[in-house]
Amino acid sequence: MNSLQALQKYFGYSQFRHSQEDIINCVLNKQDVMVLMPTGGGKSLCYQLPAVLLNGLTIVISPLIALMKDQVDSLNLSGIPAAFLNSSQSTDEQRDIAIKLSNNQLRLLYVAPERLFGKDERLMAFLKTLKVVQIAIDEAHCISQWGHDFRPEYLMLAGLKREFPGVPVIALTATADKLTQKDILEKLNLTRPEVFVSSFNRANITYRVQPKQNSFKQLLRFLSERKEDSGIIYCLSRKSTESLARDLRDEGYAAAAYHAGLNNDVKAKNQEAFLRDEIKIVVATIAFGMGINKSNVRYVVHADLPKNIEGYYQETGRAGRDGLPSDALLLFSQGDAMKLREFAKVENNAQQSAIMLKKLDDMVEYGQMHRCRREYLMNYFDEHFPDNCGSCDFCLSEFEKFDGTLIAQKALSAVVRLKERFGINYVIDLLMGSKSIKLWAEHKLLKTYGIGADVPRADWQRYIRELIARGYLRLSDDGYSALQLTDKSEAVLKGMEKVELITSQHIEEKDNDELTF
Ligand code: ADP
Ligand code: ZN
Repeated sequence: MNSLQALQKYFGYSQFRHSQEDIINCVLNKQDVMVLMPTGGGKSLCYQLPAVLLNGLTIVISPLIALMKDQVDSLNLSGIPAAFLNSSQSTDEQRDIAIKLSNNQLRLLYVAPERLFGKDERLMAFLKTLKVVQIAIDEAHCISQWGHDFRPEYLMLAGLKREFPGVPVIALTATADKLTQKDILEKLNLTRPEVFVSSFNRANITYRVQPKQNSFKQLLRFLSERKEDSGIIYCLSRKSTESLARDLRDEGYAAAAYHAGLNNDVKAKNQEAFLRDEIKIVVATIAFGMGINKSNVRYVVHADLPKNIEGYYQETGRAGRDGLPSDALLLFSQGDAMKLREFAKVENNAQQSAIMLKKLDDMVEYGQMHRCRREYLMNYFDEHFPDNCGSCDFCLSEFEKFDGTLIAQKALSAVVRLKERFGINYVIDLLMGSKSIKLWAEHKLLKTYGIGADVPRADWQRYIRELIARGYLRLSDDGYSALQLTDKSEAVLKGMEKVELITSQHIEEKDNDELTF
């Protein structure tokens, strides 16, 4: 049987997606590979299909015990003998699996890294007596401290190539920037690996952000246009998933909560009902969705701010797996960002804390920026994208704009007068004619002193941020973050280019914006 025949026979698909076929060929040729594909891209097939074709055992290393069962069940349903080993099983169950393994009756074995490399070395010793033909590492980014989901137990996987010399390793992940990619390859000691990077763009998803004001009202407005659709609403706390689900039921929506604290029966029941479209809305913590393979999720709402872009993108990626138009909505608030800043501190690990905080800052930037969201997301994953996607709130011009040329000219000339040597807040002080003693006496004599006194400080901050985002100003990278001109500035100063800015009414926020800089 060749790959295509196996694809049709066992998986029921008529053709390969992305680079699945090339990846599979590499594995069949015993080459190490790393696969980067977005959520929903079809990573599992890249090792499941070789597992069917190769005569021997494929070991799948996966971090989430809860997911193993789903995967194994669906493989068995397709007629592919598979099993998992974890701590929830009885000794009898484990013995059964061992017997099947000895008899060469299983094609795939799912196991957590800590089990494989744990104190009990018997499992490893036993597996080494078997004919292992492939090792798949799911969620491979967990090995990297640069990633958003570092799991120390993944570091043990460095020993894989030593324990199983000559067995091809396939590392898979949906989230890896350049740094994480490099780290994965190094830590796993892969031998001359082929790297496959699929585009992360999910063209059928429209990205929107709204400032969170009255989140329930905002949700109801959003849902009123999607009454028949299935969707997921993510909240930060277990408690809020339950109260929001209740409130939505009171409004007549078939909604249920899902979080790790619910008992397994309730979780399984809610998940089933969602898959069967009996429940339309799942209000969940991020515990939900990892193993969910529901293709017609039409929207994903983040009612609270996610911790990082990786998580946000993975969660929004659960919408529209069927390729039909779908929506992602984020309700952004500074208050959430402040709460998350507290959580981001990893105890006794300053380096790790700094990484998490930086990732949170990027998330906050995304929540507040006025530019193409898809472009930002693609750049985040080191992918180039032209700056008008046509399907995000910015590109759809859902922001209200006004002629901000005069405002831009005022800001730019203040920067000129200050010889490009002062930071944002100082420039704003000058524009507003601040009486603060921080402002140099000679600057209080400048013509630009006070020319922007009619604009509130919070608006100035927004406008300047926008001017930076649009390339009319930049921040020096010498550590001082002084505002400086760019090659686009002159045309504006000379009145040769008009600048459109976004009105502040639309992005009204009570919180102080100064935090972001
Ligand atoms: P990932 O692990 O990358 O998030 P999955 O492996 O769960 O993605 O695959 C996502 C969905 O795409 C699944 O429903 C899977 O069955 C389906 N799929 C995978 N490969 C193909 C293919 N070649 N043709 C059609 N559907 C596919
Ligand atoms: Zn866009």
